[in-house]
Amino acid sequence: MNILIVYAHPEPQSMNGAMYQTAIAHLEAAGHHVKTSDLYSMQFDPVSSRNNFSTVYDPAFFKPQLEEMHATEVGGFADKINMEQEKVEWCDLMIWQFPLWWFSIPAILKGWVDRVFAMGRFYKNGHLYETGLFGSKKALLSLTTGGPPENYLRDGLNGDLEGILRPVHRGIFEFTGFSVLQPHVIYGPARQSPQELSAVLKNWEHRLEHIFEEQPITIGAY
Ligand SMILES: Cc1cc2nc3c(=O)[nH]c(=O)nc-3n(C[C@H](O)[C@H](O)[C@H](O)COP(=O)(O)OP(=O)(O)OC[C@H]3O[C@@H](n4cnc5c(N)ncnc54)[C@H](O)[C@@H]3O)c2cc1C
Repeated sequence: MNILIVYAHPEPQSMNGAMYQTAIAHLEAAGHHVKTSDLYSMQFDPVSSRNNFSTVYDPAFFKPQLEEMHATEVGGFADKINMEQEKVEWCDLMIWQFPLWWFSIPAILKGWVDRVFAMGRFYKNGHLYETGLFGSKKALLSLTTGGPPENYLRDGLNGDLEGILRPVHRGIFEFTGFSVLQPHVIYGPARQSPQELSAVLKNWEHRLEHIFEEQPITIGAY
């Protein structure tokens, strides 16, 4: 199968870096085709602007979604954006590997979505949610937190993690048609021993072995 891993951590020696490298090595050894977007190494510019495009629809007023629809029709995305879009279109499974920052994805990853998930190309009227353009694809969030698991329960200090991840699961993945797999969460790696973290990496390998047998979870509307 074709797998895209989008990785957003500034330090290769981090636990996120280890999860990322483990996934690449294990999925390739299992015979899958893997492409990556290592956003910090790429120095991906997360600022969405007219730089997303090689074409201009309206030079007088910049309305991003109109420019996106026009660029979709005429092949007018900037090369760097088009390359990322082609990776998403190519994959059967997309994995995002990132640390939870401010109850969210790191800004570099949010900016990647802002620029790459373009109207016309990735979603359009009549092609949202169940009729989304990516209905044959799956998506999986693999993330680390600073806080322990009990902080991420419904009655915990921070509230439930499901609610925190909902804007991505529902607003990005299901919106464009992806089926959502259960997120893979490593709580507080900085509090764990090297032995515990080795076991965490083994568990990740084990999950990836059977990833295409997993049933998606449904986020849905409230
Ligand atoms: C801007 C910002 C906002 C934040 N917001 C939140 C928030 O909202 N909620 C929250 O809970 N947390 C938050 N945090 C904390 C953050 O989520 C955690 O620091 C992060 O998830 C930890 O992951 P890491 O990869 O950076 O871990 P690291 O600290 O890099 O790694 C932890 C340990 O793993 C070890 N390790 C690395 N590779 C291996 C390996 N191969 N084998 C064994 N051990 C290894 C490292 O040596 C280290 O000891 C925030 C942090 C920042 C900077």
